[in-house]
Amino acid sequence: MNKATQTVIIGAGIAGCATAYFLAKQGIKSTVIDNNGIASGASGYSAGGLNPLVGHGIPGKLSELAMYSYQKHLSIWDDLQQESGIDFDGRIIDLLQVSLTDTDTNQTLRTLDIFQSTAHPNFSAEPLTQAQIQSRYPLINPSVISGVLASGNAACDSYKLTLAFATAAEKMGALITSDEAVGLVTKGESVTGVKTRTSIIPCDSLVIAMGPWSVNASEWINISIPVTPLKGQIIRLNYPALDTYPDIEIPSLPEASIHPKPDGQIWCGATKMEEMAEPFTSKQPTDLARNTIMGKILQIVPSLEQSELVLQTVCFRPVTEDWLPILGSVPDYSNCYLATGGGEKGVMLSSAIGEALADLITTGSTNVPIANTSIQRFIKNISIK
Ligand SMILES: Cc1cc2nc3c(=O)[nH]c(=O)nc-3n(C[C@H](O)[C@H](O)[C@H](O)COP(=O)(O)OP(=O)(O)OC[C@H]3O[C@@H](n4cnc5c(N)ncnc54)[C@H](O)[C@@H]3O)c2cc1C
Repeated sequence: MNKATQTVIIGAGIAGCATAYFLAKQGIKSTVIDNNGIASGASGYSAGGLNPLVGHGIPGKLSELAMYSYQKHLSIWDDLQQESGIDFDGRIIDLLQVSLTDTDTNQTLRTLDIFQSTAHPNFSAEPLTQAQIQSRYPLINPSVISGVLASGNAACDSYKLTLAFATAAEKMGALITSDEAVGLVTKGESVTGVKTRTSIIPCDSLVIAMGPWSVNASEWINISIPVTPLKGQIIRLNYPALDTYPDIEIPSLPEASIHPKPDGQIWCGATKMEEMAEPFTSKQPTDLARNTIMGKILQIVPSLEQSELVLQTVCFRPVTEDWLPILGSVPDYSNCYLATGGGEKGVMLSSAIGEALADLITTGSTNVPIANTSIQRFIKNISIK
């Protein structure tokens, strides 16, 4: 296949910007369009965790892609920081998973096993007794009965990482522009242009990276894109006493992980599911979410009651029913690709997504393990218009 010369990417979230970056590394100058700005969606407000060992589809169908992407991030982060001039706080972190009940303990022991049995040298874990937890982390609720300290996950500031992908791509010739895609121009089995509010941008390949808005492109490509928004809220607290603590979570208290950040803020959350009923477009933080998170984190670190609320954020995860992303070309247009459905792992998966899409566009194939991610897996369940 010939090298594509004019790629348009719709969406300047982390999926779109990573794709622009990896294309630029292969000498392809793309045009990225976004109607709200770089990282204005979930990519700008995520918790920024890269845990390739646990989550929906992990262990399972997402494991190989998750581990691939985790390693890809670590292998490019130094260069990316140099190329972009942006420090995105990329780092390896510890996770303290604690138990309030025997059911929690079953889960923490599973975490122990997963982290200890992973071949990658970054990962390790040790069990902690109640006394060890109190001695190392005196602010943890004394009712905690045991825990596991798991090392090896990575973390970053996902807003800055997205900006770094975008900035590095721009420095290598990509164009990032503010506009809204409203349709496509097609000829036979090819997309030849993107209609925006202000113009038509010609292209010889197209990437739809519209996150939870991807469904809006369904009519353009004659197939339903089965991505739904899952709202998530995070509260950011000022509480210096927790600065040196690892990330902390309790299995029986989901939606209330505690993430101390390098700038001293403590991010807590994120909510999901219970607010699905709200309108997708509502970016209003809610008292319900804030009270839910606060109620749970006080069971983990009671003294967080003295913390100061700095910010409450809202964003929407692009989720598929099997929690795997949708990557690759679409049936009707061989030069049109989807890069969406990152779900709860979209930041972690972004390096693999960017590399895979760039490979597919430039050579027609990729070594990135995307076998489970084709839109074809949904075709039996969805309407073809
Ligand atoms: C609270 C929360 C916490 C999270 N924590 C983590 C985490 O710790 N680790 C992790 O890996 N993932 C996490 N995620 C998931 C992750 O943030 C997302 O999967 C990822 O950011 C999705 O990136 P994206 O580029 O696909 O979509 P988005 O970031 O939503 O970007 C899509 C972009 O497309 C643009 N767009 C849409 N329609 C159009 C159009 N017609 N024309 C032009 N532009 C358009 C939008 O403006 C938007 O900027 C979290 C998500 C949430 C909500």
